[in-house]
Amino acid sequence: MKIIIEKEKCIGCGSCAALCPKFFEMAEDGKSHLKGSKFDPKTEKEELEIKEPSCAKEAAEVCPVQIIKIHES
Ligand code: SF4
Repeated sequence: MKIIIEKEKCIGCGSCAALCPKFFEMAEDGKSHLKGSKFDPKTEKEELEIKEPSCAKEAAEVCPVQIIKIHES
């Protein structure tokens, strides 16, 4: 299971980091960062392997631009 964020489309509202600090934090560039992940410049995404989505589900629901995805595989 993994969390994916389309980082380039993030508008920096901070909701994900506020709701789910376990996985999300706001980076120096003002955009969301998945803790422990690396930005892939090819896909313009960040991915993080997780076991349980826990609060990431809520973060995905509240993201105003819907760029947080949770993949089952
Ligand atoms: S909720 Fe969405 S738009 Fe807001 S900071 Fe997080 S990823 Fe970016």
